[in-house]
Amino acid sequence: MPESATLINGSTEAKSLTHAVAENVALLRQQGITPGLAVVLVGDDPASAIYVRSKVRKTEAVGMRSFCHRLPSNTPQAALLDLIATLNDDKDIHGILVQLPLPPHIQRDAVLDAISPEKDVDGFHVVNAGKLAIGRTDGMIPCTPLGCLILLRRVLPVLSGLHAVVIGCSNIVGRPMARLLLNEGCTVVLTHLQTRDVAAEARRADILIVAAGHPRLVRGSWVKPGAVVIDVGINRITTPTGPTIVGDVAFDEVSVHARAVTPVPGGVGPMTIACLLQNTLEAARNITHKVSPI
Ligand code: NAD
Repeated sequence: MPESATLINGSTEAKSLTHAVAENVALLRQQGITPGLAVVLVGDDPASAIYVRSKVRKTEAVGMRSFCHRLPSNTPQAALLDLIATLNDDKDIHGILVQLPLPPHIQRDAVLDAISPEKDVDGFHVVNAGKLAIGRTDGMIPCTPLGCLILLRRVLPVLSGLHAVVIGCSNIVGRPMARLLLNEGCTVVLTHLQTRDVAAEARRADILIVAAGHPRLVRGSWVKPGAVVIDVGINRITTPTGPTIVGDVAFDEVSVHARAVTPVPGGVGPMTIACLLQNTLEAARNITHKVSPI
């Protein structure tokens, strides 16, 4: 049994992916194409505003164009749909991202359905979700599960045949993650709040992906010796020493049993935004039919 797990460094991986994206953006720009990403923020949720600022900054840092639309929280749904239609038709824009969550009067699915699937860099459109579900490789893959897969491949070059357990089945993380792993040849168990014994399922996992939004849910005793554990959770908690961010995994306990584990922060988080840039590059290539190797 390993004494202490290898740390899977998402910050380093994200840096190298971002660097590769920047190089490929430069190549596209030599061909007269500058990838453009439109980000739409409705309302004034402080966490969303921070995420959007960071996306804008990183998009520009890799040489892409950033188009940021900040709308008031009382924006009618029809106005938001009009804006998306305009962005769909705009030749300078290759990726469209609507920051979630949306205010309660706006139907999330109506908005996601309105984004052109080829510009859907979040991979949430039903066409892209459907392609992933049936094992097609020509759709946009949601950024967080894509980031998890890249990190997994760093420590497990061959995923085929491994037993993977995913905790959490949201459309943003858990479900697409399970489909990606299935497409990689894993045997996949997708667990959720109604699962009778999540710990027992987790103990069978060679690969354990945790995206439940529950601080320190996964204890050391849940982890099979030698498993690879990816912690997607981002939970803001208050400790006696002040506020802090922890994952869904009890890192100190799990790292005794696991072969490799991602930290929080510095694990999956940085990969999500790097994969957004990668998806935007991909969308620009697909839309303009310019192919250059990455
Ligand atoms: P969500 O609330 O939409 O879904 C949570 C899922 O976990 C649900 O399917 C629920 O059934 C399941 N779940 C909750 N508690 C459980 C338990 N005790 N046992 C088994 N299943 C349980 O959340 P989400 O949007 O998928 O996000 C999950 C976590 O990942 C959150 O902490 C979120 O902040 C984080 N997140 C991180 C990134 C990133 O970039 N690192 C991106 C998205 C989400």
